[in-house]
Amino acid sequence: MICYLNFEFMRQVYLDNAATTAVDREVFEAMRPYFLKNFGNASEVHGWGQEARTAVEGAREKVAEALGAEAKEIIFTSCATESINLAHKGVVEAVLQQGETRDVRRKTKRPHIVTTAIEHKAVLETCRHLEEAGMAEVTYLPVDQYGLVSVGAVEKAIRPETVLVSVMYVNNEVGTVEPIAEIGRMLKKTKGIFFHTDATQAMQYLDCDVDKLGVDLLSFTGHKFYAPKGVGGLYVRTGAPLVRQMDGGGQEGGLRAGTENVPYIVALAKALELSSKFKVQSSKVMNLRDELIAGVLKIPGAKLTGHSVKRAPHIASFTIDGVEGEAVLLMLADRGIAAASGSACTSGALRASHVLLAMGVPAEVAHGSLRLSLGKETTEEEIEYVLKELPPIVKRLRQMAPRL
Ligand code: PLP
Repeated sequence: MICYLNFEFMRQVYLDNAATTAVDREVFEAMRPYFLKNFGNASEVHGWGQEARTAVEGAREKVAEALGAEAKEIIFTSCATESINLAHKGVVEAVLQQGETRDVRRKTKRPHIVTTAIEHKAVLETCRHLEEAGMAEVTYLPVDQYGLVSVGAVEKAIRPETVLVSVMYVNNEVGTVEPIAEIGRMLKKTKGIFFHTDATQAMQYLDCDVDKLGVDLLSFTGHKFYAPKGVGGLYVRTGAPLVRQMDGGGQEGGLRAGTENVPYIVALAKALELSSKFKVQSSKVMNLRDELIAGVLKIPGAKLTGHSVKRAPHIASFTIDGVEGEAVLLMLADRGIAAASGSACTSGALRASHVLLAMGVPAEVAHGSLRLSLGKETTEEEIEYVLKELPPIVKRLRQMAPRL
């Protein structure tokens, strides 16, 4: 109870926008009628159904416009994880179905995927699944100390049986922006290789025009840009082969069965429309991020992780020597500050972030990782508050640490 009251009256600073964002009020208002009044099933022919269909197709047009795509190239899903599964498994299965002609069915010539060691688990686990099922071979490319993958390394990894290259646009832990457009240009010279990007952390702030990026598939999820959790999408370029992973009705052009989540689809499109306007002002978030970075780096033993310039506007990430990230999070939470750490607590033991390890950060240093991710509502006062609270927390934790 006391804890609850504390939470209510304590200053609250939300710096975990890379994990999820609040639903924007305008977005909430846009979707509200589709719960209460216009609740029809978009597959039905009556008035309610047709109203729902009009809303879904209107949303599809808006999403397509934001991506520079055609409406028929957008598939609505439940989240980025689903989109990523559909993209990877869908392309590999489609290629395997054409096995006779492409000669990839023989063990020595399984379809080959090129991806990176720093992808989100949604990509890594999907690739592992395809490998374990004997459906694909996967190359996990290393990255440099800033989390950047090299275009040359992608090119070198390509084999005659490569069918998919999958590189994330923005890394969710360190904020590094990958050279997607450059990889896209390089892949233009190849034939039969489809290019997927996980744009989950990019949608709110970066240009996601699919032609400028040169991608064939692009995954995203609404709750990272002020739409609700439980709705996402996949862009699939016309002509890219894809086998659906959800069997059932013929919704979403036959590529994703299941009754469309009309209110959330409306919300997703509205949020994307708002983010297009906000992108113009994203320098406000970037300036606050830089102020935060400069302030945190004054703490002795604090280091920036990720690239200093090729970095998404909303992500500030660090390692702090001599402290556990989880302990910092708990003490920040005690002061009303929401943050994240790359290390995950599994069965009582701390596991260092696979992203930091891939960047060459030693495991003991990686345990001290901290991610502060800003949002469009973040204020100067909030950054000042965090910069006041964080140094004494680090000092206290270092004093408490056993000396070996
Ligand atoms: N990809 C990236 C880069 C992410 O940051 C996330 C979520 O944190 C995901 C994929 C998965 O998103 P969702 O949980 O909405 O499927």
